[in-house]
Amino acid sequence: MDFFKEGKPFYKGNLHCHTTRSDGEKTPEEAIGIYRGFGYDFLAITDHRRVTVPESRMDGKLLLLPGIELDYTLAAEVVHIVGFGMTGDVTARVKYELGPQAGVNAIRACGGRAIVAHPHWSLNTVPTLLGLHGATAAEIYNSMSFLRPDSSNVLDVTAAHGKLYPLVASDDTHLYQGEEGMSFTMVQAEALSADAIMSAMDRGLFYASQGPRIEQLSIEDGRMVVRCSPANRVYFHTNLVWTPDRPVIGRGLTQASYRLHREAGERFVRCQVIDDAGKSAWSSPIAL
Ligand SMILES: [Zn+2]
Ligand SMILES: [Zn+2]
Repeated sequence: MDFFKEGKPFYKGNLHCHTTRSDGEKTPEEAIGIYRGFGYDFLAITDHRRVTVPESRMDGKLLLLPGIELDYTLAAEVVHIVGFGMTGDVTARVKYELGPQAGVNAIRACGGRAIVAHPHWSLNTVPTLLGLHGATAAEIYNSMSFLRPDSSNVLDVTAAHGKLYPLVASDDTHLYQGEEGMSFTMVQAEALSADAIMSAMDRGLFYASQGPRIEQLSIEDGRMVVRCSPANRVYFHTNLVWTPDRPVIGRGLTQASYRLHREAGERFVRCQVIDDAGKSAWSSPIAL
């Protein structure tokens, strides 16, 4: 079974970015110019508690999506929820005192999609992540969280407890001092429009990356197979602590596979492709 459609293009985007409309260092116009200059296909400006781009629109070749970041402070963690693609007035609907689930619900009620931002940076716990419903994805990598950018651990533990968050990577751009353009999400949509991007994400047609490309993911004959841009390492992560042949090491690998162990209780698998510069691409976890 192939997860992506053969030969169909992917669109590259950043779904998490701040400007001077909240605590970012660049104006919305400057941020848009920077991502357009990088050749991105889509960008959501997600200022804290406010919508900076009210409607989706094309700015040259760059699709701009409405966005917002909601924040909640709990006893020993924070929860930040990025919303994008809303068509209704989400700021009027959000009641921060009602907590993050109500925030996800408000984003969805406004026609948008929700992403759990930087769970590792936020010190999110597994019960918190298990208890949130309706998010389209979680950030496995957040470029701005320099000291805690990689949320693999808490998301894998959450997956081992039964909740598989699809994975995106985002810059969470604030400083524009090197975090911009560092990580992104690739979406295999039918067209470059807000509806098409959201529809593709609803169907899981995306992956997270800092550079490497994932061209195809398949499960066939009891193996997970990935085709990718040249990589030196491909890791297969699952809920089992140890199974054989999970790291595939080589030079310029463009395909790797892993024999699944459903009989031993393997319940999910995801792959990580690492190139010779140490940059990663991450697939979402796939339920077995
Ligand atoms: Zn945040
Ligand atoms: Zn942010």
